[in-house]
Amino acid sequence: MKIGALEAGGTKMVCAIGDENGKIEKRVSFPTQTPKETLPQILEFFVNEEIAALGIGCFGPVELDRRSPVYGYITSTPKLAWANYDIVGKFEEALNVPVGFDTDVNGAALGEVFFGAARGCDPAIYITIGTGVGVGIYVNGTLLHGLIHPEAGHILITRRHGDTYRGKCPYHENCLEGLAAGPAIMERWGKPAAELTDRKEVWELESDYLAQAVANYILTLSPQKVILGGGVMHQEQMFALVRKKVQEKLNSYLQNDRIAEHIEEYIVPPALGDNAGITGALLLGWQEFERVTTLK
Ligand code: ADP
Ligand code: ZN
Repeated sequence: MKIGALEAGGTKMVCAIGDENGKIEKRVSFPTQTPKETLPQILEFFVNEEIAALGIGCFGPVELDRRSPVYGYITSTPKLAWANYDIVGKFEEALNVPVGFDTDVNGAALGEVFFGAARGCDPAIYITIGTGVGVGIYVNGTLLHGLIHPEAGHILITRRHGDTYRGKCPYHENCLEGLAAGPAIMERWGKPAAELTDRKEVWELESDYLAQAVANYILTLSPQKVILGGGVMHQEQMFALVRKKVQEKLNSYLQNDRIAEHIEEYIVPPALGDNAGITGALLLGWQEFERVTTLK
């Protein structure tokens, strides 16, 4: 089945055509400007493709409650041109196909569960450490929503003694995103994260904060697999550091071989690499097509 996928990010919009097996036929990307500038570009890509459905993995916060009058909206984003924006409605109207919708990280989690490193794993979590930090959660065969949806990138972290950096999040002085996302690394150390590879102290601190969060996610959600993605995790040395610190922080309390003996198979990079999100968006489109068809 021919499906459209949109990974709507704060910096770019990735558009693809593919199928429910995760095969991507073609893809393009556009910088995220205002809806007025960006929407026509996206629509032009999809409009003559005769897709059966579209899936959108979207930056948030978004409204995922189907009972809400603003279901399918981007809600209170700091990217003001997109605040209170009916993104699902716009695409339904313009393309006249079912539109599946979830957060970008839930989309990526779905992609990894179907075709990537988390196949057969339930629960499974996908954490992205990029411009922000987000966590997608797959549990009991579905993506976790709730009151709003998980915003686990903003969990509060114990600051390391001597870390005087004030944090980048306008809401929390010591949340994970504010202390450890790419822009926080850049502001704390004065250089983009990609140029700090040789600075051991950078990754020592970064992995400590990330390991605190991962330990808390493991204690709370009991995931069968933990996937760490996003630009900052291109620093591959981070994996060994995070795994070791997670073991230290859990301190043998959780007695399980996956943590004690095989943690390198438990905390892993996305098998789909940077395609996790767009593959997940294809699946969101396919799931919505199936849902709508079953209702008929
Ligand atoms: P986004 O979160 O905007 O979707 P990314 O996941 O690519 O995009 O994250 C971008 C962030 O990742 C930037 O803050 C950038 O500094 C950081 N980043 C990108 N490449 C690297 C790298 N090789 N090493 C460390 N950080 C990187
Ligand atoms: Zn925060």
